[in-house]
Amino acid sequence: MTTTNDPSLNFSTDWKYAPAPESSDHVQLKSRYDLFIDGEFTAPAQGAYFDTCNPATETNLAEVGDGSEDDVNRAVQSARKAYDRVWSRLSGRERGKYLFRIARMIQERARELAVIESMDGGKPIRESRTVDIPLAAAHFFYYAGWADKLQYAFPGREVRPLGVAGQIIPWNFPLLMAAWKIAPALATGNTVVLKPAETTPLTALKLAEIVQEADLPPGVVNIVTGAGATGAALVANPSCSKIAFTGSTEIGKRIQKSLAGTGRTYTLELGGKAANIIFEDAALDQAVEGVVNGIFFNQGHVCCAGSRLLVQESVASIVIRKLKHRLETLVVGDPLDKNTDIGAINSRAQLDKIESYIDRGRKDGLNLFQSECPVPQKGYWCRPTLFIDVAQSHPLVQEEIFGPVLTIQTFRTVEEAVEKANNTPYGLSGGVWTDKGSKIFKVTSRLRAGVVWANTYNKFDPSSPFGGYKESGVGREGGLHGLAPYVSLT
Ligand code: NAP
Ligand code: MG
Repeated sequence: MTTTNDPSLNFSTDWKYAPAPESSDHVQLKSRYDLFIDGEFTAPAQGAYFDTCNPATETNLAEVGDGSEDDVNRAVQSARKAYDRVWSRLSGRERGKYLFRIARMIQERARELAVIESMDGGKPIRESRTVDIPLAAAHFFYYAGWADKLQYAFPGREVRPLGVAGQIIPWNFPLLMAAWKIAPALATGNTVVLKPAETTPLTALKLAEIVQEADLPPGVVNIVTGAGATGAALVANPSCSKIAFTGSTEIGKRIQKSLAGTGRTYTLELGGKAANIIFEDAALDQAVEGVVNGIFFNQGHVCCAGSRLLVQESVASIVIRKLKHRLETLVVGDPLDKNTDIGAINSRAQLDKIESYIDRGRKDGLNLFQSECPVPQKGYWCRPTLFIDVAQSHPLVQEEIFGPVLTIQTFRTVEEAVEKANNTPYGLSGGVWTDKGSKIFKVTSRLRAGVVWANTYNKFDPSSPFGGYKESGVGREGGLHGLAPYVSLT
């Protein structure tokens, strides 16, 4: 039992939940998945496959096709044909019906999809079940609703689709990112070729099965799995009228350079380094919970994660005490256990990257706090970690770590908080915790960030646009704004 003067900290952290594993018996995975091109699953041209593993157990789940340039070109040709002959000629009402059907089928298979998402990517089942899969269905429902109302989205303008969209997604929200990309593209009359991330291809391939069952005309949705080279081939294909990329700033910049001067359009959703700002008048327990939710759940594998805490000096010591206490209660382990807060790190490479940042902090003599929770022997794990009082210029504050690592800095005035929050190359998101509405408006209007939450964090809705400033990207996805990058207006 910890005893302090603060009654909210007077509870024991010396106990455990009974295991509550989600069953995976109902999950049907084939040992091998081919590429989904022209409405059929077809073997990759060069016959190459790669394994996708469960990062919590380091066991292979299935092998999936490694799409070559030839495969990508075949998929783009099929998408082009489907665009010219069928999809661009279909009424919005008919396109909407297909999207509704996909949304319903995702809902029907939600349990299976959630378990596969957790097995393939390592995220806690609590999150995939309550966030990833329901939101993926919600995006299809939302854009199904727009398909026959485009003249109201862009009043007085003639709205035309662009053609074939090449779409590339990362591993942190695999099915949800696929939905963010595919739903607005199809609603506006485009066809797509999607390249999922190498470590998490399985739910996108399950989505391919759904697309097939939903009887979408062949070629409207193509899914080509593979590594970075597969994505690069998609970007290089001149028949893709538009590229939609979500991933790291480094690859995003490379894509932007290669598209410069081609006349092809793009949206880039890239990295982030968001600040959560706690003022002294905030409800501190709620704020601490919000900060924990913002960085530690989903292992910090969230582009808009609140990876920097800025706390007003007068309440810093109590907030840090509460945070440390809360960290000790977080459960790290089996992603399929419903009690798990922090699942497995997505890959060995990502774990190495996170650990190299933690080592850097250690070497530089920073004030480090790590929870002492047990972690399983096998698999890729990282205990929740705090770095307290870090200089603004330190790489831990400036660079995206993409893991359960939070830096803490203090401030005295609103000006100082805003200055520190804005002082990174990124500008994707942020959070403000205060009791004063006027302060919320004052601070949020000065943060150079695409999404700012007030007294909450990481809340998503298909009707809200999402995207960044500075090195966090170009363009917006979601909401009415998310339709614009997929149409040409005259
Ligand atoms: P990444 O390495 O940039 O990869 C993203 C996707 O691009 C993957 O499918 C990847 O394939 C592919 N790719 C790799 N090299 C490529 C190339 N030269 N040309 C075309 N495609 C290529 O990023 P990640 O590590 O998977 O994802 C984490 C990053 O995504 C973080 O920086 C995070 O902030 C960002 N993210 C941003 C948002 C947002 O909305 N702003 C949302 C989620 C994630 P492989 O998997 O085979 O490497
Ligand atoms: Mg995997």
